[in-house]
Amino acid sequence: MFATLSDRLADTFKNLRGKGKLSEADIDATAREIRIALLEADVALPVVKEFVGAVKERARGEEVSGALNPAQQIVKIVNEELVTILGGETRRLRFAKTGPTVIMLAGLQGAGKTTLAAKLALWLKEQKKTPLLVAADLQRPNAVTQLKVNGERVGVPVFAPQPGNGIGNPVEVARAAIEEAKRSLHDVVIVDTAGRLGIDADLMQQAKDIRDAVNPDEVLFVVDAMIGQDAVNTAQAFLDGVGYDAVVLTKLDGDARGGAALSIASVTGKPVMFASNGEKMTDFDLFHPDRMASRILD
Ligand code: GDP
Repeated sequence: MFATLSDRLADTFKNLRGKGKLSEADIDATAREIRIALLEADVALPVVKEFVGAVKERARGEEVSGALNPAQQIVKIVNEELVTILGGETRRLRFAKTGPTVIMLAGLQGAGKTTLAAKLALWLKEQKKTPLLVAADLQRPNAVTQLKVNGERVGVPVFAPQPGNGIGNPVEVARAAIEEAKRSLHDVVIVDTAGRLGIDADLMQQAKDIRDAVNPDEVLFVVDAMIGQDAVNTAQAFLDGVGYDAVVLTKLDGDARGGAALSIASVTGKPVMFASNGEKMTDFDLFHPDRMASRILD
């Protein structure tokens, strides 16, 4: 990911090397190059504008420090601005003070929610938590089975509606799961909810009903980074329709340009908390804006 953006920015900075002082024309030319690089990486236009504006202003205004030459100074500014648009500080999970921490996942079908649920469970297990996975996606016939298979892969139990146990809707499943978690001392409950291929009112309502019923400590919006600008639009629609606390980007391994990753926190005002970058259960970690920015400028 970010390969093209990385190369482009490196070329831009190369042109500044050896310059003793940056002229207004140098700053303008650099800003133009950065703008093109970000647009090519499919970063949302308002984010590009804000980014370039901030870099320009700081490049003009900042005192050239003795330790850095002008090129290094620009790289430093771009680095800091990248961290800012990527969401700033690393956002960590908030755990409940008492009782099980409830994490609800929302997003479109195919975003990678079910896979993510198991990855998150494994990640928590490695931190000595005792998660319970909950199959509240009753829309897709295969979803419950898929979560059970993934749960087995990571050694985490799955709470699912049993035929004949009278639990017929996702809200009841989620509620019953939390009772079960309390009984059997699970300290984190991960609720996988249904997705649709497109955004629709029923999907939003169902997610809202589950949210209202279980009052999650964290609602995570899961989105496929490969869909580029659509990821940003979908993120906004879910923010308006359901609301969430943080974003999880999936399939970063397949996203060559990185536009969604670079735009989503800035557009929605919600931090990216986790990134998923492969099909293996361990291809998953906290999203660190500072490390991501360094990678882009490497
Ligand atoms: P859901 O409909 O949101 O529950 O999505 P799934 O978890 O079923 O994922 C949809 C497809 O994306 C599956 O084939 C997953 O194996 C795949 N997938 C999920 N996460 C990743 C990822 O980070 N990278 C890649 N390459 N594939 C992923």
